[in-house]
Amino acid sequence: MSSVNPQTKAWQDISQKHHLAPFSDYKDLRPRIITKAKGVYLWDSEGQKILDGMAGLWCTALGYGREELVEAASRQMRELPFYNTFFKTAHPPVLELARTIAEITPGNLNHLFFTGGGSEGNDTMLRLVRHYWASKGMPEKQIIISRKNAYHGSTVAGASLGGMKPMHEQGGLPIPGIVHIAQPYWFAEGGDLDEETFGIQVADELEKKIQALGENKIAAFIAEPIQGAGGVIVPPASYWPRIREILAKYDILFVADEVICGFGRTGEWFGSDYYGNQPDLMTIAKGLTSGYVPMGGLVVSDKVYQQIKEVGDFNHGFTYSGHPVAAAVALENIRILREENIVETVKTQTAPYFQKRLRELCAHPLVGEVRGVGLLGAIELVKDKASRTRYPEAQAVGMMCREHCFNNGLVMRAVGDTMIIAPPLVISKTEVDELVEKATLCLDLTQKQLGA
Ligand SMILES: *Cc1c(COP(=O)(O)O)cnc(C)c1O
Repeated sequence: MSSVNPQTKAWQDISQKHHLAPFSDYKDLRPRIITKAKGVYLWDSEGQKILDGMAGLWCTALGYGREELVEAASRQMRELPFYNTFFKTAHPPVLELARTIAEITPGNLNHLFFTGGGSEGNDTMLRLVRHYWASKGMPEKQIIISRKNAYHGSTVAGASLGGMKPMHEQGGLPIPGIVHIAQPYWFAEGGDLDEETFGIQVADELEKKIQALGENKIAAFIAEPIQGAGGVIVPPASYWPRIREILAKYDILFVADEVICGFGRTGEWFGSDYYGNQPDLMTIAKGLTSGYVPMGGLVVSDKVYQQIKEVGDFNHGFTYSGHPVAAAVALENIRILREENIVETVKTQTAPYFQKRLRELCAHPLVGEVRGVGLLGAIELVKDKASRTRYPEAQAVGMMCREHCFNNGLVMRAVGDTMIIAPPLVISKTEVDELVEKATLCLDLTQKQLGA
């Protein structure tokens, strides 16, 4: 890429010299420098305008440049920029936010523990569920069952709960007491089974694992309603009903990681609403603040809360748990989501249109499957459609496509050879058209480069 702005190279040099970026190969890293954003668009330091098909990192629900969020932050900074919520203190924004989230979360999920992000939310979950069982006189209930290729964050507990092999390979993970069962990823792993049979088969692994390890050893099962970072893996329709049947038989807690699905992404407030699941705990982050400031949390049900409140201190917390500026921004974010009927609009207008337009890409010779729910989408790139055969890994077709996208003004992320999309919830139909048009062009360019 030739540079027009000399400042671009200067920034890239600083990156080489001083910045250790997340999930990056530092050798020859020359990052694209994003300098500003508005609505669903980003601009880089070369002046290129880019449609952000990934809502930042799944988080900018309201898009960029919402003055109300800026105002909420600056108002709170002037009033009370920081105070902690340890040792019998609190402040209005954290309390109002806790009440507001309890209003929109499903069922009896009424109690909030705030964190700096999703990983800390899942760390909190691990400690809290073990504390819960110990407080009930069952300290041996320690094991958390998760799934392969799940993403639950990057702290020691988060990465251990996650099922990402390349993460486990660094730092001696997973930590003890976490086991992984198969994921409901029919396109990649379903073989000759039809989708629904496969869904039942992988769900049954939960029951097999509970029986093999012993119900008396298992604390919880954690899952994203739809796996996000794993490749927008929408489970077969048979999967969640079967998981619910299994969970109903055993005394273990159910944790929904709603960091991506929460706050309207599926067209419902939470992915658990979309599937009719009733978790005992939910991890939240990302869309909670539209990413304008960092914040996450763990939502806890009445049942779990009633138990742990009987046994004294929960010895856990972060300096920035319930940070007043983050809480003020989250409150304003939720106010806008509600008052502008954004979740409802996703459900009735934007998502049906987005899903319909995206599925037109099925006709493309490079595309083996298009799937999605709400404003989540995935496009599987294949060498042969009928047999779902991929290109050799070394060809890195997904990365090739991603590069074409970036160079042509579209952020679409590659997970292996799965292209994934999660635009801001406020994307318009015209912008969806532009997204699909650009995606088509980039699929064409990828195919041309492959000489196929
Ligand atoms: C991003 C993500 C996390 C981690 O959140 P951070 O804020 O990066 O710590 C956890 N779970 C899911 C499902 C995520 O997508």
